[in-house]
Order: sequence, then structure tokens, then C-alpha cells
Amino acid sequence: MTTEIAQKQLVLRMKSGIEIWIDEDKADKVMSYLQTQKTGFGTIEGRLVNLVEIEGIFSPIDLLELSYRKQGMWKCKYNNWHNKNEDCTCVRPRDNYPDMEITQGSEKSVEELNKLRDQLTKNKII
Ligand SMILES: [Zn+2]
Repeated sequence: MTTEIAQKQLVLRMKSGIEIWIDEDKADKVMSYLQTQKTGFGTIEGRLVNLVEIEGIFSPIDLLELSYRKQGMWKCKYNNWHNKNEDCTCVRPRDNYPDMEITQGSEKSVEELNKLRDQLTKNKII
């Protein structure tokens, strides 16, 4: 998982399963466009897209997590993924040293993803 990609790019996913990777600022433009225009066609990254066929705009983390879930993996309270029959034995340094500041790139991405999800739900795009 590369969090660097997650911060720069989002994935526009079509109902057909086609995924178009777009820069965050372009994704913003698509999102604002979709707020006013939900039908018809639009060009996105050189593709002619039927707007009603857009499933949503997701973070790469989201799609990665989806593939993990499809494999039966699960996410523990420490935000780590475990295999289907694996128990969580995660202990982060924070648990032992409460004053220590631990920053995980993936946490930020998940936060951004949740924000995006809230936004999409609020605007009823999906
Ligand atoms: Zn764990």
C-alpha cells in the first residue's frame, strides 16, 4: 500500500467495474459537476462516460480494503488487516507510551476517505 498515491489520486469507479484514476483536484471538479449534472455524458480523462454509470469516486485505500474484504480479511481496532482466521496480536507503542505521538499515513487516508464518503452520501451522488 502506497499512501503517497492515496493522497494524490482518487479512483472513479464505473458500475461496470472500470476504474479511472484521477488527480484529487480533477476529482473535485468531477464531484462538483455531478452535483448539478447527473445524467448525460461527460469526458473524464479522455474517456466518454455515461454519468449515470458512475458508481462513485473512491480512495485507492477504499478499493484496496474492498479487495481485502473480498479475500475474507478483517480490520482490527488498530487499523491493521488480518487474514480470515488470524487473531489480532497488535500492540502499538501508543499503548505502552501514551504520550508518544504516533502518526500513521493510512489513518489520515481513512479519515479523508470517510470525509469523502460523507460528502458523497450528503449529496446523494451514490
Ligand atoms: Zn490487529
